[in-house]
Amino acid sequence: MDIKRLVIVVPCYNEEAVLPYSVKELTMLLDILIEEELVSKDSQICFVNDGSNDKTQEIIENLCKVDKKYSEVKLAKNFGHQYALLAGMYNCNADIIVTIDADLQDDHMTIMDMVKKSNEGYDIVYGVRNKRTSDTFFKRTSAELFYKLMDKIGVKLIFNHADFRLLSRNAVERLKEYKERTVFLRGLVPLLGLRICSVYYDRLERIAGESKYPLLKMLAFAWNGIVSFSVFPIRLISSTGFITLVISLFLFIYTVVYSHFTGIRTMIFLTFFFSGIILLSIGIIGEYLGKVLTEVKCRPLYQVEKTINL
Ligand code: UDP
Ligand code: MG
Repeated sequence: MDIKRLVIVVPCYNEEAVLPYSVKELTMLLDILIEEELVSKDSQICFVNDGSNDKTQEIIENLCKVDKKYSEVKLAKNFGHQYALLAGMYNCNADIIVTIDADLQDDHMTIMDMVKKSNEGYDIVYGVRNKRTSDTFFKRTSAELFYKLMDKIGVKLIFNHADFRLLSRNAVERLKEYKERTVFLRGLVPLLGLRICSVYYDRLERIAGESKYPLLKMLAFAWNGIVSFSVFPIRLISSTGFITLVISLFLFIYTVVYSHFTGIRTMIFLTFFFSGIILLSIGIIGEYLGKVLTEVKCRPLYQVEKTINL
């Protein structure tokens, strides 16, 4: 069996605080992998600078100057985590690609198990979190709720798997065929089929720097996932419409038969209630319309400013 070329893709957005630590750890890991002949000697760590405005670029450039083991894809501005991952995966020439967050909250030593699985013939190896005790109670429960909700509305996700995964060249090439603009990788990758398996690890704490996913961004990301993969919210509108229609028929009969006047307070309440439902429904449909607009415009997903050592 040929030894495969591995590229570890690391998206970085203002990660100057944690990068020195992550570089040391990932380099150590890559050296072990090379030494044990699990990956080829020309394997690399590729940093995707997603429009950082701190010293991230300086740190990456200095590394790339010293050693060809490091490479960079520099994006022209901040495009967001999912697009940074795509830029890394699509610009690297590798037999196997592992994507991992720069803060190494997803235990990087698991990459060893991923590579071994890939050598056994798996195309996709998911990193799955055993427990998330290091996350705040809110983040943990909201994330788990999200996975359950997605499952209920028919979106197939791998429970407790985020964007820490290994993909073979074959899987990356197939992923390229999914041309959508609203990218939600953890929903897309399970659509590829191929040979898949999971490896398990404990999610660690962020060593330094801050989370780039504050609450609102996290909610927007989750909403994107729902709208891109399910029409359940639109179905919910139809069901609500149907149920209110049935209720209103009964109310009508009741009012006619008993000549019952429901009173001004009830009228005000009902007017507000249904105006709320109608506006919310228009909003939800608008969200889908907005997504369609984004898709038909077919704008590029990201812009590469330059690459180093690729
Ligand atoms: N990230 C990125 N672009 C962004 C936001 C985040 O490339 O616009 C990167 C970030 O540098 C990190 C990864 O995405 O490597 C995940 O971000 P973070 O660790 O802050 O998310 P959390 O673990 O808090 O969900
Ligand atoms: Mg993190």
